[in-house]
Amino acid sequence: MVKTSKTLGTVQAAAGTSAASAASSAAASAEVGRSEFFAAEQGDSILFHPCANGPVGVTILGATGSIGLSTCEVIRHNPDRFYVHGLAAGRNAEQLFALMREFRPERVALSDSGAAVTLKAMVDGVAGEEGKALRSIEILVGEEGVCALAGDGAAGMVIGAIVGAAGLKPLLAAIKTGARICLANKEALVMSGQLFFNEVKKSGAQILPVDSEHSAIFQCLPRDLQQNLGFCDLSGAGVSKILLTGSGGPFRDTALSDLAAVTVAMAVNHPVWSMGPKISVDSATMMNKALEYIEARYLFNAGPDQVDIVIHPQSVIHSMVSYRDGAVLAQLGAPDMKTPIAVAMGFTERINSGVAPLDFTQVGTLTFKKPDPERYPCLFLGIEASQQGQACTTALNAANEEAVAAFLQERLSFLGISQVVDAVLNQISGRSAHSLAEILAVDAEARNLARAAIARLGR
Ligand code: NAD
Ligand code: MG
Repeated sequence: MVKTSKTLGTVQAAAGTSAASAASSAAASAEVGRSEFFAAEQGDSILFHPCANGPVGVTILGATGSIGLSTCEVIRHNPDRFYVHGLAAGRNAEQLFALMREFRPERVALSDSGAAVTLKAMVDGVAGEEGKALRSIEILVGEEGVCALAGDGAAGMVIGAIVGAAGLKPLLAAIKTGARICLANKEALVMSGQLFFNEVKKSGAQILPVDSEHSAIFQCLPRDLQQNLGFCDLSGAGVSKILLTGSGGPFRDTALSDLAAVTVAMAVNHPVWSMGPKISVDSATMMNKALEYIEARYLFNAGPDQVDIVIHPQSVIHSMVSYRDGAVLAQLGAPDMKTPIAVAMGFTERINSGVAPLDFTQVGTLTFKKPDPERYPCLFLGIEASQQGQACTTALNAANEEAVAAFLQERLSFLGISQVVDAVLNQISGRSAHSLAEILAVDAEARNLARAAIARLGR
């Protein structure tokens, strides 16, 4: 297989802006015999499907997690379109080693230095030709190593699948390269919103949503809005509402009086989706939907009244867009993240994801209801934080990360999560955060406040 590094970069360099560039790109497209071509603006970049000139190099940030491994599965189904340039993870050396053996990337990174030592020892233990090949893969270490890999500019596509705020700096490094960014790491967007999209505009990077709801909304929007994420004009396109659906999590029907006794094992056992531990707890509190509400506001440039949240327990509809004329477009499918990952990676083409089509004879009844504030206080704290602005959404995310970590370590009760977030938001309101330094300062302050609240409320 011929490896074509930075296919998108080449394309963007050739494209420039506006009509002249569209014409030159159209000529290039005819040369390579692409079946589909379009050009339009997202920031200053031209979007078209990335694999036209041969396989695209992909860097997966968060490669060993649930989204990272699903991305690997999509790549396995499309060896003629993608190859793995880089893999980054936190501390799971064993899983990263297995992926190195399979995909033979050019570089890998682990943020945990102890895990990097373990990985090096595993590589050194392999004999023969395979050992020689594995030792030629560069191992980068620490946050700097992850950022260096994310920002090395050798991948046309970067998958943002690190969990939590740890993903922000690597994502900003990747955005600067002008690559296509397939974004799963919603926390990074929640904590940086406008700054994130200002960087996108500067570099001409392409943002494609991976979160299933945002992928669904994206798929229900007209192409000119798809091309202009972060800056699109919903009402100009006749959109009256984005309807963000959520399953309601595992405690949707639990008696309110039983929520105090929710254990970690109960909370991470999501009825529909199989996910990492942090997002599983977020789904149980519906903080996940709060983060997604904020994510939707930034991605689709939506006002507070342009996004409604609907509980849809079956998770067959992944979200909807309601238009001024009364039409509602919905995207349906099996609850499998490989579909939105493949949509983001393949856009503008539909590629194989390995997901079986939905069998409508097995779907049964679809139901919908409004979320109950008493059951889901985190959801309403998130919506409120979003009206207050960037400092509050940064603090919301930081406080929640600390509270969820404490819950997973059994230092805080399930109901304590919303109490910690509420306490932090009360102390941080009225602040502003625009630059990266200000955002990181609010993040650090909110974490300190959260730790104090956990010590007070915890067990
Ligand atoms: P996960 O816990 O399964 O995986 C997290 C990945 O991040 C792992 O590879 C881990 O090694 C890596 N990581 C952690 N800390 C790191 C650090 N400091 N530096 C580098 N890498 C680090 O999580 P997940 O469920 O795959 O979720 C990943 C992201 O995708 C989250 O932001 C989540 O909200 C989002 N998301 C997940 C799903 C899902 O179905 N799993 C759906 C939508 C969005
Ligand atoms: Mg989601």
